Amino acid sequence: MTVPTIVLNDGTSIPQLGFGVFKVDPDETQRIVSDALEVGYRHLDTAMIYGNETGVGAAIAESGIDRGELFVTTKLWNSDQGTQSALDAFDLSLAKLGLDYVDLYLIHWPSAHRGTYVESWKALEQIAATGRARSIGVSNFTPELLQPLLDAADVVPSVNQIEYHPYFQQLASKAFNTEHGIVTESWGPLGQGDLVDDAGVDAIAAKYGKTVAQVIIRWHLDIGNIVIPKSNRKERMAENFAVTDFALTPDEVAVVSAVNRGEAGRKGSNPVGATF
Ligand code: NAD
Repeated sequence: MTVPTIVLNDGTSIPQLGFGVFKVDPDETQRIVSDALEVGYRHLDTAMIYGNETGVGAAIAESGIDRGELFVTTKLWNSDQGTQSALDAFDLSLAKLGLDYVDLYLIHWPSAHRGTYVESWKALEQIAATGRARSIGVSNFTPELLQPLLDAADVVPSVNQIEYHPYFQQLASKAFNTEHGIVTESWGPLGQGDLVDDAGVDAIAAKYGKTVAQVIIRWHLDIGNIVIPKSNRKERMAENFAVTDFALTPDEVAVVSAVNRGEAGRKGSNPVGATF
């Protein structure tokens, strides 16, 4: 299986399909990430707040895979926003991962009520300048939250990781990201387990001999998003990875896109007005 890559606005390449570890128990993380690496994933998505960076790092160390073949993302938690606190949090993430650089470091949420995300971005720019984060980006930013950051930025974020799945397509955010050269990365790509229930999508799955989950992951790839599905089960990790031997036609992409429920499809928090 060859995973396609996307070239980011800073010239680095990211595997378009990765493996997420949100809600993966820290005690099980090493085993689960080892399974994902065995399946073939080379792009891992964690965060300080997940509490499992140590397990991710242990699996990487144990794997013996060349560091240059891996793409590792982690994220700055809200309460660590600021300048020195962000720099310190980044050092701690690197130490927990046992790495001397990450491929991508994200501001996890705008957490706009704190009034510190622009300052935090400047700290991420400092980190990027040292090479210890090859790329920097944001997560859960809407256009209205992203604009003030862009106004102050010397480095345009390379990605914006946002909730995105067939039932909840943030089309305005995606258009804004694209307009600014920012790649959209889909979190909750399988609707956090609430897969699409639609006869048209079932028919596409039957046509290719694939599951609905595989069709959904393929749809993310075909619309140009980075996608990071999660599973604790090795057979599902393999299922979710086996999506590079087929592609949807534009009409089939449209069938999946047609299930969009707008705001009613949202699973996670709305970053606008969030107070965490
Ligand atoms: P997801 O959409 O990847 O759904 C995962 C769930 O879907 C699994 O727990 C399982 O119940 C089900 N599933 C997985 N494979 C399946 C299959 N083949 N068939 C049927 N069901 C299947 O949800 P997620 O874990 O929330 O999102 C993926 C990743 O995105 C996370 O692990 C994390 O890395 C990232 N994320 C980021 C944020 C953020 O704020 N930036 C928020 C949530 C998640």
